[in-house]
Amino acid sequence: MQKTDNVKKGGISVDTEHIFPIIKKWLYSEKDIFLREIVSNAADAITKLKRLSSLGIRTSDESYSIKVILDSENQTLTVEDNGIGMSEEELLKYICNIALSGAVEFIQKYENENDASKNGIIGHFGLGFYSSLMVSDKVEIITKSYTDAAAVHWSCTDEGQYELNSAEKEEHGTSVIMHISEDEKEYLSTSKIRAILEKYCSFIPVPIYYTDDTEKKAELINDTNPLWLKPASECTKDDYKAFYSKVFTDFKEPLFEIHINADYPLNFKGILYFPKFSNDYESMEGQVKLYYNQVFVADNVKEVIPEYLFMLKGVLDCPELPLNVSRSYLQKNNYVSKVSAHIVKKVADKINFLKNNETEKYFEIWDEISSFVEYACMRDKKFYDRVKDSLLLNLADSTKITLNEYIEYSKDKHDKTIFYATDKAMQAQYISMFEAQGVKVALLDKTIDTQFATFVEQYIDGIKFVRVDSEISDILKSDGNIEENDDIKTLFIKVSNNDKLDVKFDCLKSKDIPAILNINEHTRRMEEMMRLYNMGEANQAFHSDYTLVINTNSLLIQKLIATIKEDNQKAEKIASYIYKVTLLSQKKLSADEMNDFINDSFNILLNF
Ligand code: ADP
Repeated sequence: MQKTDNVKKGGISVDTEHIFPIIKKWLYSEKDIFLREIVSNAADAITKLKRLSSLGIRTSDESYSIKVILDSENQTLTVEDNGIGMSEEELLKYICNIALSGAVEFIQKYENENDASKNGIIGHFGLGFYSSLMVSDKVEIITKSYTDAAAVHWSCTDEGQYELNSAEKEEHGTSVIMHISEDEKEYLSTSKIRAILEKYCSFIPVPIYYTDDTEKKAELINDTNPLWLKPASECTKDDYKAFYSKVFTDFKEPLFEIHINADYPLNFKGILYFPKFSNDYESMEGQVKLYYNQVFVADNVKEVIPEYLFMLKGVLDCPELPLNVSRSYLQKNNYVSKVSAHIVKKVADKINFLKNNETEKYFEIWDEISSFVEYACMRDKKFYDRVKDSLLLNLADSTKITLNEYIEYSKDKHDKTIFYATDKAMQAQYISMFEAQGVKVALLDKTIDTQFATFVEQYIDGIKFVRVDSEISDILKSDGNIEENDDIKTLFIKVSNNDKLDVKFDCLKSKDIPAILNINEHTRRMEEMMRLYNMGEANQAFHSDYTLVINTNSLLIQKLIATIKEDNQKAEKIASYIYKVTLLSQKKLSADEMNDFINDSFNILLNF
């Protein structure tokens, strides 16, 4: 550094010729963040001064603010604060001496690394201020310390050469004047600057006024006291709703919110929302915005939320994380995994709270959240353990019941067996058979429901999910005699074209149902799994496990027994039709069978 009478000149560091082009062209993957860095420095300077006032070190009744002024004519963007300011010594120490020697080595080593490591460098070496040189060919600082120290004027070119002069400035605080370079003219566009401020600075704790050269009037950009900072007890439903629609521009009311205020050692705050999805093909992917002391850091920080809570939207303010945090840092960080575990706990607590305290609402939203809750349970046993008492079952009669209630009710009646249907229409007849006997039939009509049933069976002692058409429960049987009939057996084997078909006789309470095709619960689950993993059509492989149960109490079967003797051909037609109806309720008709079935149906009408 050279010294003249009242002008000081110098080079930022021995290695400036290396570091400046790197800062300018390479270091930041997103140039827009320069404004965040400069504005958050300004906010820090004000916070420091406020702290001195609150400690009684200085008295002050002034109002603090940051001004961002765009002057496209002079091609400058200025950030002005009335914070702590810097003396000449401080400026030399904090701005000029940026200890880059280590940084140069580090940068050279990681030059070919991804953006993640570059962000790490910025945080590590405190290059925040110099990010202004990505968009400027010259940056000036005019600053006056809150102490008696004289004001100083510093200016620096993008080659790393600076000048330091005395300056005329009465008020304490700092102005950073960025001379936007020719190549970066987009930063002279007012919509661009406003968009950057809105993205990064919407919740910075100091009021930010933006003035552009067209409007000339200062416009307040931010909300200095965002909702997440308020105690949950002081926030109303409307507050949460308004905050959500403002931050996510989603005008559908979220299903519920989770307000987190984690104390030491986690020390983070935030609000997470469970969004309402519309039925169109919009993405279900949530969005979690990460803040550092109210300064926006990154969008969609998946690392902080476990993958199975991907649909959540919200804001998290983590002052324990560095401002320039990188993805790889987040992935490996121990603190982040604790934050994530805490979020899981809070989500589970909220679900339990809703179930216990806002039961009606919880029952209403269950259909919208059930798939996510079930998926989360399957991905994380701990989550399941936390919410297991809040799991609900939809019933075929359109009511809902908790899983625990079903188990309790079924304990004496049918030995903790949960009878269920997967398709209310297709299995209507089976459902009504059970319901006629006072049995509650669960409706597992989402793909995930049956997988979840298999999952739950492992953890709840003695429970068993049985689809209504998979076996003839004792509940459905009558005390009447079962009269086996070989002719009927042979007839059904013939019309089914399946000589492995297992034909059984049973006497059901219902007289209306002639036959039921049972597919063993285990076999059907295997089939479903094979279909899920695209292992082809499994029907044939397991055909031998199909059981056709003939109801000897059925009027139609009694008619069929009589018909065999009189008119075998007619009996075959009736049997074939019955068989196809049983197949149909299992969605098992082949194209040919469906064709025959339709023709038979019309023929029946013809002879009606
Ligand atoms: P960091 O903010 O990570 O420390 P910067 O390069 O952004 O790194 O800033 C370096 C230092 O310069 C700050 O720590 C602060 O002491 C000082 N500084 C920067 N901007 C201002 C400002 N507007 N007012 C007062 N001091 C500032």
